[in-house]
Amino acid sequence: MSHVFPRHSKAPPPMVSRGDGAYLFDAAGASYLNCGDAAVSCLGHGDAHVTAAIKAQLDRVAFAHTGYFTSAPAEALADRLVAAAPEGLDRVYFVSGGSEAVEAALKLARQYSIEVGQPERSHVIARRQSYHGNTLGALATGGNAARRAPFDPLLMKVSHVSPCYAYRGQAEGETEAQYVDRLIAELEAEIEAQGPETVMAFVAEPVVGATLGAVPAVGKYFARVRALCDQYGILLIFDEVMCGMGRTGTLFASEQHGVSPDICAIAKGLGAGYQPVGAMLCSARIHDTIRDGSGFFQHGHTYLGHPVACAAALAVVERLLDDDVLGRVTPLGDALHDALTERFGQHPHVGDIRGVGLFRAIELVQDRETKAPFDPSDKVHARLKAAAFAQGLICYPMGGSMDGTRGDHVLLAPPFILDDSDVGLLVDRLDAAVRAVL
Ligand code: PLP
Repeated sequence: MSHVFPRHSKAPPPMVSRGDGAYLFDAAGASYLNCGDAAVSCLGHGDAHVTAAIKAQLDRVAFAHTGYFTSAPAEALADRLVAAAPEGLDRVYFVSGGSEAVEAALKLARQYSIEVGQPERSHVIARRQSYHGNTLGALATGGNAARRAPFDPLLMKVSHVSPCYAYRGQAEGETEAQYVDRLIAELEAEIEAQGPETVMAFVAEPVVGATLGAVPAVGKYFARVRALCDQYGILLIFDEVMCGMGRTGTLFASEQHGVSPDICAIAKGLGAGYQPVGAMLCSARIHDTIRDGSGFFQHGHTYLGHPVACAAALAVVERLLDDDVLGRVTPLGDALHDALTERFGQHPHVGDIRGVGLFRAIELVQDRETKAPFDPSDKVHARLKAAAFAQGLICYPMGGSMDGTRGDHVLLAPPFILDDSDVGLLVDRLDAAVRAVL
């Protein structure tokens, strides 16, 4: 009997035995094309440069507490990230994962508000159908109703406005610009309703990942959000935990909107699965306010800035930028989109095919015309996940909502080292899984 406490305790998972490139193998030798590990393994498995960097760092120093030391990999990684980040992100705070990066971002926003002389600012506005992590602050910020439900009594109060989700949100006869106008008006009304002087931050994923399935914003949405935040003195926090680190074809997804946030959270692809690592980037203005004020950020975990994690992440960034693995994302993503469109473009139960770079999804519906989602009790997403796994495909399906505001979707976030034949195999296996379920 296993003593591991698995997440799904009624159906414990099989044992993984090894990974090779884009594939994982179980103990029985079956192989799985890995497109669904929550957008982590951007370099696949067995990357020699990353593993060599980890070994070399272990031989130098495994751990040194940041209360006493900085480390060469942390310094070099921060330099690389700031050089590549959107204008204005100047400092990097290293943590161990995505939820931690979002918690750090929220706490930094709060501490900055206090130190800049605006202690009345503490309210967070985020978006419905978003996910920002599973720790209590991050969970409260997210709008994923199912994940929040059991913990609601423990969560801080956050307002949630509509996401920019054109497939379901844009009304019949409404132009893209009018749709964006409406979303911005909704956000402004919420700021006014809360009292603008109490609002601390607006938090959003530039491309919504797990909750909606690879949904990019349309038009000038984020430029307008930025302008609104500036107008009211509200900090803009981007959560690029899933969509960052090259997943959309640029190192930071926000580059494609020409918008710089005040604070940005990254993780997942930063360590590419070789080490658990995340980071929070912020502006010099925020950093300097704290440096020149209290001089101490009141948030820290033991493993922040872990040298081995930073060495792994530095090697990942080198692979992405110096070896131009990042350059593969847009053409491969376009090829994947074309293949999905060819296979599912007329499928009666595929309502939308969307995404950017190697961050793609299909949305499953009962009826293409009305966009009616499946009844959540049908558990289409869970059955599809099992059917795809049986076909040798790891994908990331998510269920629709009870209120019918979103359908089941299948998120696909394959490694950037995929080749064209893998793209074909991915679509074949997904097709077989969809046939088995619908
Ligand atoms: N933010 C986003 C957008 C995510 O997709 C996730 C995880 O899926 C998180 C935050 C939380 O990251 P982690 O699971 O590493 O704590």
